[in-house]
Amino acid sequence: MSSGTETLEFQAETRQLLQLVIHSIYSNKDIFLRELISNASDALDKLRLESLTDSTLDVDTSDLHITLEADQEQRTLTVRDNGIGMTRDEVVELIGTVAKSGTAGLLEKIKESKDAAAAQSLIGQFGVGFYSAFMVADRVTLRTRRAGTEEGTLWESQGEGTYTVQAVDGLPVGTSVTLHLRPADSEDGLADYLAGWKIRQIVKQYSDFIRWPIRMEREQGAGDGEETAGEPETLNSMKALWARPRNEVSEAEYSEFYQQISHDWQAPAETIHMRAEGTFEYEALLFLPAQAPLDLYSPGAKPGVQLYVKRVFIMDDCDALMPNYLRFVKGVVDAHDLSLNISREILQHDRQIQGVRRHLVKKVLRAVKDMQTNNSEGYEAFWGQFGRVLKEGLVEDRDNTDALLELVSAASTHDPEKTTTLREYVARMKDGQEAIYYLTGENRAVVENSPHMEAFTAKGYEVLILTDPVDEIWAAQVPAFDGHRFQSIAKGQVDLDPTDDGDAQAQADKAQREKDFADLLPWLETTLSEHVKQVRLSTRLTTSAACIVGDTHDITPTLEKMYRAMGQELPPFKRILELNPTHPLITSLRQAHAANADEPALVQTAELIYGSALLAEGGDLPDPARFTRLLTERLTHSL
Ligand code: ADP
Ligand code: MG
Repeated sequence: MSSGTETLEFQAETRQLLQLVIHSIYSNKDIFLRELISNASDALDKLRLESLTDSTLDVDTSDLHITLEADQEQRTLTVRDNGIGMTRDEVVELIGTVAKSGTAGLLEKIKESKDAAAAQSLIGQFGVGFYSAFMVADRVTLRTRRAGTEEGTLWESQGEGTYTVQAVDGLPVGTSVTLHLRPADSEDGLADYLAGWKIRQIVKQYSDFIRWPIRMEREQGAGDGEETAGEPETLNSMKALWARPRNEVSEAEYSEFYQQISHDWQAPAETIHMRAEGTFEYEALLFLPAQAPLDLYSPGAKPGVQLYVKRVFIMDDCDALMPNYLRFVKGVVDAHDLSLNISREILQHDRQIQGVRRHLVKKVLRAVKDMQTNNSEGYEAFWGQFGRVLKEGLVEDRDNTDALLELVSAASTHDPEKTTTLREYVARMKDGQEAIYYLTGENRAVVENSPHMEAFTAKGYEVLILTDPVDEIWAAQVPAFDGHRFQSIAKGQVDLDPTDDGDAQAQADKAQREKDFADLLPWLETTLSEHVKQVRLSTRLTTSAACIVGDTHDITPTLEKMYRAMGQELPPFKRILELNPTHPLITSLRQAHAANADEPALVQTAELIYGSALLAEGGDLPDPARFTRLLTERLTHSL
């Protein structure tokens, strides 16, 4: 009974991805086999797990394995598994669409990058999985039957716009994928994938640690009539890499394994291989990638650690094992004393798992620290890729604040060419300096040229230049580093010469200034009341006329923007205008105001001073058109 053939269209993104795959984005075509074997292995894991957790499922799991069959006459290579299989709907959903987050962005970037090497590295990071079959085949036939169901499905496609599906009877449980191979072509990187030696070589290289036997029929003895034909040979050693002693695993093996689980195309930056013994035994094999994946900051980005229980795969993306800010860490944790039935929810609350997580976080942070100590160049590159996400930990993970602060690498006014650690900053602090000074902003130029910087630069105080959005949050929240609190130079009163307070002359000068400005400040406060909550004299300005500052506990304008963008309701929010009492514009304004407080040009000048201060810190004018008109008028008058 076959219910006719249906022809369906690939989803648009899938079609584009297929085009890329077929038109040889990958120079290494061998990896198609790794992808198909990995899918088969996943399917066996899933069936094993389901049979252990669902007693009603009636399947034979006594000989789970993968078989490779090369048919020289038909020119086909078949990868077969007796795993979980797929229903018709699953085939359409899983094979007909690309569900991976970041696909659209990836395709966009690939289109933009005209150069093939860049495109390859992009797609290499992404991993095309099943579709990689079309690199070597001009037709792919998939037959599958889901465990626990009767009807099988036959899917076929030539990798163009469409595929067909039809119901078929009599299939065994599991999946077979048959590749109708394109002719070998060394120029195109197409090897002879029917050759036994080639298949063996690829399996050994990429899939040796697959936990299930990968079998292949022995080739017919070359005319010697021996009875070896038909007797399958197992191609892989099946030994889980993480279960082997560290000194028996080579760098190359670690790297292969990492590339397989991460779909990365390059070696990891660091490898952490450990075994915990005692009350809760587990093995962990974790990797720090060298390059951030494309979806690291997309809302759906998931942690990259897989959970196994005694070599049985339990789940991908195990968020109970790694905090969100370490979501770039890839690897495997194999715990010995957990139930196979364990759910994500239970894991989240399991005390032993929480202990494992604490331990793994410490290990990862120590590995990062070691990289910083031993390989400063490598560390700089690593921080460039993952610094932003690590800094999320300063907000998320109070237990490791100190360890994370040690890792921070920040731009600073000390050296425009180099970043600094906080420890280096503290070592350079001036006598009597208590706080670590920083200023946040959109980019280095805006921060460096901000009026807030002036007095600090003039007096030789170093200021950290923080330009990641997350900096706004952690720098305001983290209490201290090495006993020194963090102080935004755009907030609060600044007193860079506390010793001057004792100086009689300075005291007298200050009193005089306050008297001079006694009328102007309240007048400005009223005139600009729509924009600022206070107007006061500044000690932080040397060349600018004015700047805008927040109270110590005010949120910064950038943070305000972020919250509003996230849809949070915030009360209207005003800051403080500080004036430079020695600036000619400010002294002239004072004199003009003293001469005639009702002069209309005074109001315009006040507004222009406020607007300029806002622009100087990289802010947005409330009414740019009005600002421009006022400025034009004033310029016209002055000519
Ligand atoms: P990924 O393996 O990263 O999910 P693939 O493109 O390799 O992406 O596969 C897509 C999905 O198709 C798999 O997640 C799986 O659900 C399904 N699939 C592929 N091959 C098999 C197979 N041999 N048996 C069962 N399901 C499979
Ligand atoms: Mg896959």
